[in-house]
Amino acid sequence: MGDERVEAMEIDAQQRQEVAAAVPDGFNADYLRIYYGKLFPYGDFFKWLAYGNDAKHPGCDQSYIGRRELSFTLENDIYLRFQSFDTAAELETSIKEKCPFKIDIGPVYSVDPAKRHAYAQSGNNVFVPVERELIFDIDISDYDDVRYCCSGADTCLDCWPLMTIVIKILDTSLRGDFGFNHILWVYSGRRGVHCWVCDSRARKLSNEQRSAIADYFRVYKGGENSLKKVSLTGPVLHPFLARSYTDVLKCFFEDKLLHSQQLFASEERCQKILELIPDQNVASELHDKWQGNRRSSISKEDVNAARWEQLKTTLQSGKHKTQGLRRCVEEIVFSYTYPRLDMEVSKHMNHLLKAPFCIHPKTGRVCVPIDPNNCEDFDPTAVPTLSQLLGELNAAGMQIDSENDWERTSLEKYIRFFRTSFLQPMLKACKEELETAYSAKLQQSKNTLSW
Ligand SMILES: [Zn+2]
Repeated sequence: MGDERVEAMEIDAQQRQEVAAAVPDGFNADYLRIYYGKLFPYGDFFKWLAYGNDAKHPGCDQSYIGRRELSFTLENDIYLRFQSFDTAAELETSIKEKCPFKIDIGPVYSVDPAKRHAYAQSGNNVFVPVERELIFDIDISDYDDVRYCCSGADTCLDCWPLMTIVIKILDTSLRGDFGFNHILWVYSGRRGVHCWVCDSRARKLSNEQRSAIADYFRVYKGGENSLKKVSLTGPVLHPFLARSYTDVLKCFFEDKLLHSQQLFASEERCQKILELIPDQNVASELHDKWQGNRRSSISKEDVNAARWEQLKTTLQSGKHKTQGLRRCVEEIVFSYTYPRLDMEVSKHMNHLLKAPFCIHPKTGRVCVPIDPNNCEDFDPTAVPTLSQLLGELNAAGMQIDSENDWERTSLEKYIRFFRTSFLQPMLKACKEELETAYSAKLQQSKNTLSW
């Protein structure tokens, strides 16, 4: 490449940065209006929620998408529930006009939720949720007792691996143990991740079946105040838990969290781990050992690894094996790493959940999809912010208008991922199911006629 071209490119990149920097950080209605005007992927969003019913096929349920509840939270905290849309254009017009600070997705109801009162008066149509993705909501603030770098809604690259663990464990199990294929993971914009299981089988689950699936993932017994949050019972671990432990939890605990969270770096932190050991004698034996090696030659960096090794050796040594301590090492690892789900969200069809591609008001970050196959690489601090995107739009402003403005921003890779890795395979499956169901119906009516 000639020097001149290199120089020209450098200038270009520099200019783009300058223009990008010209949009100050923030979140407000003016920014949001541009985002909804130019970047929000209405078409893909609508196609997702229509699940193939927006096609011309005679087997399509034309009322399907119009029975889905969306809810908008407006700037002044006005909450508009039970919004519904028959077409992508209607959805787009409404979002552009109302400029919601937050969009939530609810269930598909038996009737159009916007007309629920009219139906109630007519008395012959019950307004009930009939379909809903199986969803999981995970907040990193639920891990405050096992992370020392941040607390509350804050998160950093030291504690984010706790969310990576959630994705790995749940995604593997939802696919392998439950046979689901169309799973969407979304960054919540600030403190966690959302999971949408979109297979038609998942959407049709009853509340009882949802509860059963949520319970499958539950290892935390007892309340908030119970010291021991995990109890692994029975002679052998359930295969799902055993696999989670060896494939994910153990490595994350030993290779990452032990050091990044400095889990054994203070008396208080050690004490918290010792409290998970049911045998007082063993706990005090370790406590004494660690009191001793505080003064020993172990450097600050090694203290976590060294104490963890001592704990494992002590608990797994021959003399303690029979005392019900066999599980204790695993229980400690589970306590510090295993996914903590907000069960209520998963159990009920009518729970609302924030839509992907919303902007989080506090961080200004887009709720982008996360690729579960590369979730280790996901960096929440690198997710595009509203102001960054507007800066990129400005910088691209001089170029010829493309049909999709998002193609000229860092939102592109997320929309492409949503489209090619999630939406297209899912719509293909929806189409096949729809055609199968339709031809079965035709066959049935043919049989009835010939009879
Ligand atoms: Zn952190």
